[in-house]
Amino acid sequence: MSNSLMTTYAPLPITFTKGEGVYLWDKSGKQYLDAVAGVAVCGLGHAHPVVADAIAEQARTLVHTSNLYRIEHQEELSEKLCQLSGMDRVFFSNSGAEANEAAIKLARLYGKQQGIERPNIIVACGSFHGRTLATLSATGNRKVQAGFAPLVDGFVRVNYNDVDAVKAVAKTNSDVVAILVEPVQGEGGVIVPDADYLEQLRQICDDNNWLLMLDEIQTGIGRTGKWFAFQQSTIKPDVMTLAKALGNGVPIGACLASGKATKLFTPGTHGSTFGGNPLATRAALTVLDVIEKENVIENVKTIGDYFISEFKVKLEGVKQVRNIRGSGLMIGIELENDCAELVAAASKKGLLINVTAGNTIRLLPPLIITKDQADNVIQIVTDLIKQ
Ligand SMILES: *Cc1c(COP(=O)(O)O)cnc(C)c1O
Repeated sequence: MSNSLMTTYAPLPITFTKGEGVYLWDKSGKQYLDAVAGVAVCGLGHAHPVVADAIAEQARTLVHTSNLYRIEHQEELSEKLCQLSGMDRVFFSNSGAEANEAAIKLARLYGKQQGIERPNIIVACGSFHGRTLATLSATGNRKVQAGFAPLVDGFVRVNYNDVDAVKAVAKTNSDVVAILVEPVQGEGGVIVPDADYLEQLRQICDDNNWLLMLDEIQTGIGRTGKWFAFQQSTIKPDVMTLAKALGNGVPIGACLASGKATKLFTPGTHGSTFGGNPLATRAALTVLDVIEKENVIENVKTIGDYFISEFKVKLEGVKQVRNIRGSGLMIGIELENDCAELVAAASKKGLLINVTAGNTIRLLPPLIITKDQADNVIQIVTDLIKQ
């Protein structure tokens, strides 16, 4: 690797030169099936022709003007996202962490509005919310925080999927103003909570006048078989953050607000130079359009269920396998032992997978993956685990 790069990553010694659909090719011409999709980013796969054309055309027309002026595609995208989610307003950022920063700032403004000087946000163990100082402080993983003290204040941690723990905080801490959780924990190991978890949290938030803030950066934009994971339940959040798959690889994030969270920001309270620029918002608009036109979300449900049922059959009785779980095309296979070495072993066989939380194989294939391609992934992963 180049000595000129800061050593924040330890990449595999593979360099991709092109992609198409679920496939990537490296410098030597070797083909890989990509079941990582740039960490849940390339939902429509690589080099989707409609998205590529939109980006190219926009690049030739207008890339950036700043938020000093109105931006047509940004306005259109905000309306589309509100229509799909039932939320009321959108702020655009360039990444997931920045979208969560906006959510955290909203919660603090909400607290101030109620005379709470030092507002607290409840967050979960095992969560991941980003790498900026506020979002790493919200993150429930010591490795992400190590070395970066002093952390940002104002977060109270509870176990994920533990409603009683949240109720206990409500009894003792009058400075709480919001809960921030992922509907399914991604980096934490594809942890799917109880079916009524979000409903219960919604109820507690309503009872205590707190904001329910959902980090849908990984679960949003079709990944779990709905546009947004909260749509698997009957509730609506007050704040929701998006990023990853929204631009299919063009950096864009969004913080959406509804109801009492809608009008907390006023001119001058938040901003971003690049956020929501014409290129990124045109790309995202096109992504949403293609997802709709190509019935991509239906495919996520069908193939997601297929993955889980096939893995359960093929890995039945394999003693290394502790648990097989998922939601849509967010799939986790938890093993008895740490299994980071499987990433390189899979890549040798032409398959890209991810391992998270030490012992969990995480599959996040493009949302357009076909049944035949899924069979290919299932076969390779099953063989690797059995070896
Ligand atoms: C990836 C991710 C983030 C951080 O997004 P960045 O774009 O890397 O800043 C935050 N929350 C969740 C749930 C994520 O999966």
